[in-house]
Order: sequence, then C-alpha cells, then structure tokens
Amino acid sequence: MAYNDFDTGNHWLPFTPNRHFKKEPRVFVAADGMHFTTHDGRQVVDGISSLWCVGAGHNRKPINEAIKKQLDTLDYATAFNAANDQAFLAAQKIAAMAPGDLNKVLFCNSGSEAADTSMKVALAYHRARGEGHRNIFIGRERGYHGVGFGGMSVGGIPANRKVYGTALLPRVDHMRFIHDPANAYIHNQEPVSQEDYLLELEQRILPLHSPENVAAIIVEPVAGSAGWYLPPKGYLKRLREICDKHGILLIFDEVITGFGRMGTSFGADFYGVVPDMLNFAKCVTNGVIPLGGVICRDKLYDTMMKTDAPEHVIEFFHGYTYSGHPVSCAAAIATLDLYQKEGLFPRAGEMGKVLGDAFHSTFKGLPNVVGIRSLGLAAAVELAPIAGLPGKRAYDIYLDCFRKGALVRPAGDVVVIAPPYVVEKSHIDQLVNTLADSIRQHA
Ligand code: PMP
Repeated sequence: MAYNDFDTGNHWLPFTPNRHFKKEPRVFVAADGMHFTTHDGRQVVDGISSLWCVGAGHNRKPINEAIKKQLDTLDYATAFNAANDQAFLAAQKIAAMAPGDLNKVLFCNSGSEAADTSMKVALAYHRARGEGHRNIFIGRERGYHGVGFGGMSVGGIPANRKVYGTALLPRVDHMRFIHDPANAYIHNQEPVSQEDYLLELEQRILPLHSPENVAAIIVEPVAGSAGWYLPPKGYLKRLREICDKHGILLIFDEVITGFGRMGTSFGADFYGVVPDMLNFAKCVTNGVIPLGGVICRDKLYDTMMKTDAPEHVIEFFHGYTYSGHPVSCAAAIATLDLYQKEGLFPRAGEMGKVLGDAFHSTFKGLPNVVGIRSLGLAAAVELAPIAGLPGKRAYDIYLDCFRKGALVRPAGDVVVIAPPYVVEKSHIDQLVNTLADSIRQHA
C-alpha cells in the first residue's frame, strides 16, 4: 500500500515535524509481538514500547479478547450518576497493586487528563479542609505532565511551554532539574550526588511563596520525556519529608514509570516513597485503548466526603464522559492479569540490566556520546548537540534507525530505548547495534 493512500492531507500529526514527515512518511499498518509492519511492507522492531505503552508486546490475544467480549456485553454507559461493573473491578485491581493507602481511583482517559485531575483534587482537598489559600503548584524544570493547561504549567520542557507564554497558570514555580553532570554515566543503579537538589526548594521556593500557600508538588519519579534522567539517591524520600513538614501534597506522575517499567508495579515501590496521588495511563491497558487515572490516598476522598452539603450535591465537580469507560476498564483488567500471569514486571527488571549492560559496553567512547543512563527497562544515550541546532543530531539518528528497522525515541539530544517487557536479548542486540551504527554515521 502506498503512503499516498493515507495522505489525504487531512491528518495533522501530533508532536511531529509535519513538513519533514511528508518527505519521508513512516506509517504503521500492523503490529505483532515486538514488531510493526510499515505501509511499505518493512518490519520495524519496537524499541520504545510505542510511546512507553506496550509492556506486554503488541497484539496480545487476552487483551483483544477481553475488549471484544466487553463490546458485546456493555459497550458504553454513562459515567455520571451511575457506574459500570468494569470500572469497579479495574479500580479494585489497580488499588490492590498500589502501595500504602493509595486506594481511591479517579479514572480519566490520558496522562494529560490525569495531571489536570490530580491538580484539581489537590485544590478541592485543601479547600474542603478550610485551606483554600493553598493554590500554588510546584513542578520541576524539564518535567513533563502532558498538554493540558495544568500539566503544561507545572511541566518544565521549554519547547512545550514557549508558545503559550503568560497564558499558562500563573501560580506555579519549578524546582531545579535533577541531573548532576558528574553523573553522566549511570549504569543500572541510582546515582549518588554531592549536589543537594532540594536545597533551593527549601531555601528559595517555599519561603518565596510561603509553604502554607502551596497545594502540591508534582514530579515524575524518573524524568522520562526529558530523556530518562534519574533522581539522586534519597531525593524522593526527602521530597516526601519536606511535603509532610509543610502539609503539601506530593503527586507522582507515573504515566511512564507506572505498571512495570522499573521492574516494580510503580516507581513509588522502586523508590520506597508513597505519594498522596499517583497518576497513571499508558501501560495500564498495554496502550491498546485510552485509559488514565489518579490513585488517591484515602484521606483525600474521605475529606471530600465529609461535607455538610445535602446528599444530592456532588462532592467533587470533575469527570469526563469516558471516565471509567467499560471497554477501557475491561482492557485494563486483562492487561494487568497478563502482566501478573507472565511475571512481566520482574522480567522488565531483569531485561533492564541486559539493556543497560548493552548500552554501556556499546556506546561508551562512540563519537559525540557524552552520557549514558540506565535503570529499569529504559536506557538513554546523551549526545553532544550540533551547534545552533539543538535536537537535530538525535532526530537524524532516530530517522536513520527507523530506516534500518528500529524504532527508538529522540528526546532533545538524547536517544532513549525502552522496549516492551517481553523483549529478548536478540532484540536488544538489534536495537543497540542499529543505534550504534547510526551514532557512528552521524559523527
Ligand atoms: N505525564 C507523563 C510523565 C508522560 O510521560 C506523559 C506522556 N508521555 C503524559 C503525562 C501525558 O500523557 P498523554 O499523552 O496520555 O496525555
């Protein structure tokens, strides 16, 4: 099938340089296991779980069957003033996997909606406790929390923000980024840093806004979209302590780290820190169908239920038409069962070590390689930017890898590989060798 069959001129591609895409289209028409088939009949190995989504690999029958069965049973039902059985079952399963008393699941459809939802829960919770003045949010430089106005405002990737300028939320600040240049090479372990990345939070940001005005701090346990930057040892634990000290809610955006990427159910488990809210999406349904959500600690729900308003009054004015969609929830149940049945989270942890070893033994010393980071089933190689053209080297390398049959992810001047948890060593060898060839060719 020719690309022209798809090129009706109507599809505006998201997060894609559209002008270049037209010159060199990359269109998927099928996928199975670790591979895609493209419109021109080529096989491409999926080195990035599509967008960090496909933990169990593509075209998994138990998930597909669950979706088909659900379609024939209850295709859709209103989410407001009523519910569906699959949403209850999925919430129960997700809460059972979550650490601590993260027990109440508010469903939405994406990571962006999860970010905005968690921020709104934070505001509503503080208001319900008589602390409505707590309305400042703190994110982190180079954080990514999707494209809603809330998530974009606390997000800190300059290219995502610059178009919107002052239209973003005003009552937001950003902590400094967590990357210590002394830790350019991180090999399957948590970095240890002499830098105190939270000193600025305590000494500048909190005094500036007054801690009692801060509603929540939101971070990704590992900065995924920025290029797999790992928090220094102890960072998240201390962040938890600071939040507790000042009554600030801590939100973990686990859209990437949730459901297995770190070899554990959540990044929260990996780092031994329980946030007040945990945002998820992507791997919860193996990427097959949209579903996102926020897992909230009991105290958030309980506080909002303790109201003097009459019983017919909604306690939290928020929700989406497709919140807890029965087909998405059925897919989530089947996906989480499959991860468990096949032991895919521990497998992700094991294969992550293989991936990290391959990165360090293959890329160290190649031209323009200035850093390598691996932990969990994801690894990043950082490249020296081309002067005046940030991001071009990694993008060119991404294109070249695609031509050679490997899907990798450019993020600024970083290239990331984060394959499905079912990945075999042979796929890792193919991905890493292809990427090494391309790095050499773009010297
Ligand atoms: N948060 C994080 C940490 C993400 O990585 C992403 C997507 N890459 C999002 C939020 C946004 O998710 P979505 O694209 O589903 O809106």
